[in-house]
Amino acid sequence: MTITLTNPTLVLNCGSSSIKYALISEDNNTRITGLAENLGLDTARIKHTRLDGSKEEINIAGGSHKLALQKILALLEQYKPIAVGHRVVHGGREFSSAVQVTPHVLKEVKRLKILAPLHNPANALGIEAVNAIYPEMPQVVVFDTAFHQTVPPVAYRYAIPKALYEEERIRRYGFHGTSHAYVSDRASQLTDAPGPHGWLTAHLGNGCSAAAIYDGKSLDTSMGLTPLEGLMMGTRSGDIDPGLHIHLKRTLGMSLEEIDTMLNKQSGLLGVSGLSNDMRTIEQAANEGNEDAKLALEMFCYRAAKYLASLSCALPILTGIVFTGGIGENADKIRHNIVQILRHFDIQADWDKNAALIRGNEGRFDAAGSEVQLWVIPTDEEYRIAQETREALGLLS
Ligand code: AMP
Repeated sequence: MTITLTNPTLVLNCGSSSIKYALISEDNNTRITGLAENLGLDTARIKHTRLDGSKEEINIAGGSHKLALQKILALLEQYKPIAVGHRVVHGGREFSSAVQVTPHVLKEVKRLKILAPLHNPANALGIEAVNAIYPEMPQVVVFDTAFHQTVPPVAYRYAIPKALYEEERIRRYGFHGTSHAYVSDRASQLTDAPGPHGWLTAHLGNGCSAAAIYDGKSLDTSMGLTPLEGLMMGTRSGDIDPGLHIHLKRTLGMSLEEIDTMLNKQSGLLGVSGLSNDMRTIEQAANEGNEDAKLALEMFCYRAAKYLASLSCALPILTGIVFTGGIGENADKIRHNIVQILRHFDIQADWDKNAALIRGNEGRFDAAGSEVQLWVIPTDEEYRIAQETREALGLLS
């Protein structure tokens, strides 16, 4: 049987030293995927998975974003992508949906590096590289923040002087928008509950965030001005007393940059366990009796549950909770613990069904009589980006 890719969209996620890509058919039934990593270093390489699932590795020692994209586009040329959709981390206040790239949009993506210094410049590099190689190719940017632009001021404003909001755009933006949008849409398709639906979505991966979504609109979310706010994550602290900065400066003489690195790269599961940011390692160590790993696990679950409970305040009704992300999709014990901590919500869970939901399975694990549905829905940000790209270009059938 020949596998075909009809009218495929290329989805690019350009990071500071990596490019994740997926070429996705219009019907979402087939895709080619890959990852260019270690860009700029001697170990730069592309790991490519062909249409038939076979893999190849291409050495591009010292290769830049542009060189990697040249190779990636050459590998995919025969399938004739009709458009490129870029995941862009920060869309600021300007962008509430995906938009086609124009010189103005590219300028804005670059300007917004003030809000996402690590991500937006790499995203802009990807747009420019595709433009240089295929000037005629329609390109769309899909912002991680856009889905949360429906959050009302009561939830997005910080309780700090108004001028900082008006002049410096200091407010909560929220991230992981494509993931929250995808899983809440999917839950609304799968549920038997009459709409409109109110979902609490928990994206638990290396980065973690939760959102409250009613009738397809985000009403609040846990991440803020940056992806540091909110839940405890793999290496990020999540919520912390803002007074910590001045305290550490005074007592340890730490600089703001050192504190920022500590909170983003040395905290979370890694910081508390002292072992790893990988949930599998933490679970194993906890099972072997490591007290720090046990505490890291308990904190992770407690903080996730506490956030879900507080986000329920944003919803007119609560239809259910949706778990996604590497941890949310695979770690049944973490889901179990989180649901148990939410003890005042009249939730009845079927723990056997929960334990069976691993490895990319989609399903429901609440038991008869539960006031709240419980879902596991593997996220598919690439598909959502491809879909939004086609929508922005008026290509949706
Ligand atoms: P992501 O960022 O969505 O790829 O998720 C990465 C996280 O998912 C890491 O913390 C992994 O340890 C975790 N993860 C992946 N598979 C499992 C699993 N089977 N059990 C527990 N955690 C897992």
